[in-house]
Amino acid sequence: MIIAIDGPAGSGKTTVAKRLSAQLNISYLDTGATYRALTLKALTMGVNLEDEAALAHIAKTLNLRIEKEKIYLDDKDVRNEIRTPLIDKNISAIVAHASVREVMVDLQRRLAKNNDFVVEGRDITTVVFPGAEFKFYLDADFTVRSLRRFAELQQKNAGIGLEELSKDLQQRDDSDKNRKVGPLRLSPDATYIDTTHLNIDEVIATLVRLIQK
Ligand code: C5P
Repeated sequence: MIIAIDGPAGSGKTTVAKRLSAQLNISYLDTGATYRALTLKALTMGVNLEDEAALAHIAKTLNLRIEKEKIYLDDKDVRNEIRTPLIDKNISAIVAHASVREVMVDLQRRLAKNNDFVVEGRDITTVVFPGAEFKFYLDADFTVRSLRRFAELQQKNAGIGLEELSKDLQQRDDSDKNRKVGPLRLSPDATYIDTTHLNIDEVIATLVRLIQK
């Protein structure tokens, strides 16, 4: 069984997907983390972010292992390193390349094989698992999403102001929604949930109710 969750940054989907999987006692896959690890690798190697062939090659040979919360890139846990403003600023250019997405979608399908999974990202309900048993799209007002992401980065002392973060988020939103391959969009058969005025417990309760129905 696959529970697919899409939505923009700050919609609450990562926290919700993690807690939902724990509550249902099934596995969890954050596909954003796979793109973030790829971005970290590309930046470390100093690859030109417009060089699609080079990036697709890096994606194909990416040494990535995910163990619960831990994201191993070349055997090093990079779970904190991949959630920085530097990655946020550079990721959109990389994930827009068709051949890069093709490789990553294939990887994500393999990672979620053979088990029940909550899978979250941008194109999970539409491209990665269009046949998922349950499909949700989480959303929230832009200001609320910015503030949630700001609080998250502040906890890590990421040193980015709200204004700059909002600008980056807006750019990432635009790029995610308008790219040619795998754009973020509401699948007609997904349930849309506005989390602007909901806390995490309320969102999870809503999802559980819909799944059990
Ligand atoms: O979910 P998260 O914010 O960690 O994702 C980081 C970026 O990875 C997104 O802004 C998006 O550009 C990209 N992404 C994607 N497709 C996915 C998951 C994430 O393009 N399935």
